Amino acid sequence: MKIHEYQAKEIFASYGIPTPKEKLATTPDEIKTHAKEIGLPVVVKAQVHVGGRGKAGGIKLATDESELEKATQILGMRIKGIEVKKVLVAEAISIKGESYLGFIVDRSSQKIVAMASSEGGVEIEEVARRNPKAIQKLYIDPLLGIQPYQMRTLATFLYGDKGLIKSAIKITQALYQIMVEKDCSLIEINPLVRTEDGRLIALDAKINFDDNGLYRHPEIESLRDLEAEDRNEIDAREYGLSYVRLDGKIGCVVNGAGLAMATMDLVKHFGEEPANFLDIGGSSSPEKVKNALSILLRDENVKVILFNIFGGITRCDDVAQGILQARDELKIAHPIVVRLTGTNEAQARELLKESGLLFATGMEEAARLAIEKLRGV
Ligand code: GDP
Ligand code: MN
Repeated sequence: MKIHEYQAKEIFASYGIPTPKEKLATTPDEIKTHAKEIGLPVVVKAQVHVGGRGKAGGIKLATDESELEKATQILGMRIKGIEVKKVLVAEAISIKGESYLGFIVDRSSQKIVAMASSEGGVEIEEVARRNPKAIQKLYIDPLLGIQPYQMRTLATFLYGDKGLIKSAIKITQALYQIMVEKDCSLIEINPLVRTEDGRLIALDAKINFDDNGLYRHPEIESLRDLEAEDRNEIDAREYGLSYVRLDGKIGCVVNGAGLAMATMDLVKHFGEEPANFLDIGGSSSPEKVKNALSILLRDENVKVILFNIFGGITRCDDVAQGILQARDELKIAHPIVVRLTGTNEAQARELLKESGLLFATGMEEAARLAIEKLRGV
């Protein structure tokens, strides 16, 4: 689960990490009131769950009234398809240097990794590609936790000045504490800035939480901003489906997460890309199939629909019925390839016989058929 910068900064502040003076606004008037209270110059920052807001025009410095007026236009603009409904009005800091400090769970080493970089303000993935030497990485023993020498290593990698090193150690310790106590999967300050007067301030904040740990943190669950999440994924959750949108053209409807992954692999194996991950789960009623198709079809990239259903608890005839109902009600013109096998397979075949759908028994056959249709063979 993701939260906004302003929410992450509130958590930072509660752990003693210095943040700029700032306030959240949802209307142009509010922006102006906050700016007056904080005092110009201010920085107005879009609160959306995407990175690179600066480049996209979602961060503006306002030194006078007319620039502030322009900055109010961030409200309502779209960044990578997401509408900006909230902005943060922050005191403008005069920056002497920008660095990066963060923790991430590294699955391959099964450890938390600390990362520090003297190149702050740019995406860390980019630094890793271009200039890996600019990143100091340390693996943290899960039983021992972060050690003082590790914090010192990170701090001295970033700064030479004694005072700054001391502040950096404090910030590193607090950041690690949040990481562990709140079950985060990622936490980063980018940039961590050095001010003209020799202080360190977290100018930006990003925290992602491990969804599997959320049950232990109701206070974090309540930070979820439904408006900022993908509408389709929220609807899918409500219908009891798991849906993740991807970039391809073959819409996949599958029962079971493992089979869904295998289906996506096959589509890729034969040279195309899946449009989504979609698991309709077990005991799929016609209603569920209809809901699944209605979400899938909101994606204009989808050109062919591929069903891969292994009937166990799920009855193939139920799914077949759902497909036919949905096709009529939603007026689906896309080619539909159906692979149904298992419980009530014969009945399902009977139902689909006159339907004009493409029927397959094997998975491979189904994936090939879908791709042939897509390529217009
Ligand atoms: P992101 O682009 O979404 O990661 O947004 P950030 O909050 O990291 O801001 C991007 C960049 O804008 C920073 O790296 C800074 O260079 C600049 N910036 C943001 N706030 C301030 C500020 O208060 N003063 C100055 N001078 N620059 C700022
Ligand atoms: Mn940033």
